[in-house]
Parts: sequence; C-alpha cells; structure tokens
Amino acid sequence: MCRSGLSVRKSKSHLVSDAPHIVCPHCGAVNRVPTDRPAAEARCGKCRSPLFDGHPVPLDEAGFQRHLERGDTPLLVDFWAPWCGPCRAMAPAFEQAARELEPAVRVAKVNTEEAQGLAGRLGIRSIPTLALFRGGREVARQAGAMDARSIVAWTRRQLYRA
Ligand SMILES: [Zn+2]
Repeated sequence: MCRSGLSVRKSKSHLVSDAPHIVCPHCGAVNRVPTDRPAAEARCGKCRSPLFDGHPVPLDEAGFQRHLERGDTPLLVDFWAPWCGPCRAMAPAFEQAARELEPAVRVAKVNTEEAQGLAGRLGIRSIPTLALFRGGREVARQAGAMDARSIVAWTRRQLYRA
C-alpha cells in the first residue's frame, strides 16, 4: 500500500513509523514491516524466520552494531556473563520481559566475556547491566538484577517519558 501521495506534510518520523526497519535476529537482513501488519507475526523476507520469537536475541559486537544502526525498534540489551550468578538468576525474568516487550522493543543479550571490546567501549562496569538504545544511541542504563515486572516497567518508563 502506498500512501505517500496523500499528504506532502508527513514528517520523516511518521514515515519511519509507517514501516519501521526491523533487523532479522537470525540472518541480519533489514526488513520493512508496515505498522498495519502485526510485527509479532512478521517473517524475514530473506530467511523466512520470525522477526520476533519472544526470546532475547544473543548478539555479538557486529550484531549489536547492526541492530543499533539499522533497526528502528528500541533495543534493550542485557549485558551478562556466564560466570555471573545474578545474571543467570535474572535470565528467566529477562525471557519473560522479552515476551511482554516485543515487538515494540527488540530484546537482546550480549555476553560480555565474548564481546569484551563492546563492553569496554560502552563502559559496562558491572553485570548484569540493562541498557536501552534508541535512534542509535543509549538512552538509559540500569545496573543490577531485576524481576520481569521491573524490567518491563523500567523499559516502558524510559520509552514513554519523553
Ligand atoms: Zn532473516
């Protein structure tokens, strides 16, 4: 459907929200999903995988960068490590939060053991740390484990306060 002729005064942000770019968590392809189609059911045009499957997407540094720069969906990242007890304890809560937040938010996790360069560059000093990115930049950060309800509430508070 093409609605671009209807209004010449549509802002750029309106056009973006009409068909946001969503990065495929499986193959990295950038998809455009019109908002009049349910993003939760959308599949990647390249690899046919679901664009959202209710699970945090494990991202390495390149994957993180791709979602950050190419995706229009806000990006919530859990910075964690396998040796970190509180991180492992929070994992089920983060899974549950992903099911609640998708597809409005892309939920991902970065293993700081494997992505040490990225963690260092972002100044992640303790884990678990949650960070929320939007429009290619970080908008909020919270250190320490949270339960699912708190993760969802914190994320929504950051997104809808401005
Ligand atoms: Zn794909």
